[in-house]
Amino acid sequence: MHVEGDLDLDQTLYTEEQIVTRLKEMETQIQTDYEGKYLLLVGVLKGAVMVMADLARSLDRHVEMDWMAVSSYGSGTQSSGVVRILKDLDTDLNDRHVLIVEDIIDTGLTLSWLITNLRSRGPASVEIATLLRKPEAQRMDVEVKYVGFDIPNAFVVGYGLDYNERYRNLRCIGTLSPHVYS
Ligand code: 5GP
Repeated sequence: MHVEGDLDLDQTLYTEEQIVTRLKEMETQIQTDYEGKYLLLVGVLKGAVMVMADLARSLDRHVEMDWMAVSSYGSGTQSSGVVRILKDLDTDLNDRHVLIVEDIIDTGLTLSWLITNLRSRGPASVEIATLLRKPEAQRMDVEVKYVGFDIPNAFVVGYGLDYNERYRNLRCIGTLSPHVYS
């Protein structure tokens, strides 16, 4: 095992520069869409921490941030389909414009559940911004308003995304070498 996480990468999909550039483009669209509206960003822990930090700081306006933690994955690389609230929001969503900030949407199971849950709390609107989206999620019923990159069906790490809690602190996003799984 290497101490330097990026040595475990097989391929880099997006560099830090590419990620920040794309987030800036998303920010421009969000800025226009929410002009004159109070905006609450809801981040999904832990993966969305980096996306939230960079997206929120690139917004040239007031925003509030709140966090939810849900469990959808165990320690493997397959979606369990089981969603459980580990940490709920501190904010009352009544009449709020809510933008869910996600790192990645894979099957969309987590998100479908989250949308239904948040919409039941009486918000003015609920939309989704995700940095990454996998092919299966494109067939989802739920509309994802802001998508950073559509990626192939591979397990990726970095920029908040983990494998067994590691690699979240990588600045880039990439796939892991096979030796990491064995
Ligand atoms: P979904 O419910 O959309 O299948 O899965 C959503 C969650 O699964 C994400 O928030 C993320 O935590 C995890 N996940 C899905 N695909 C990947 C991936 O390629 N890499 C990592 N590290 N996590 C993933």
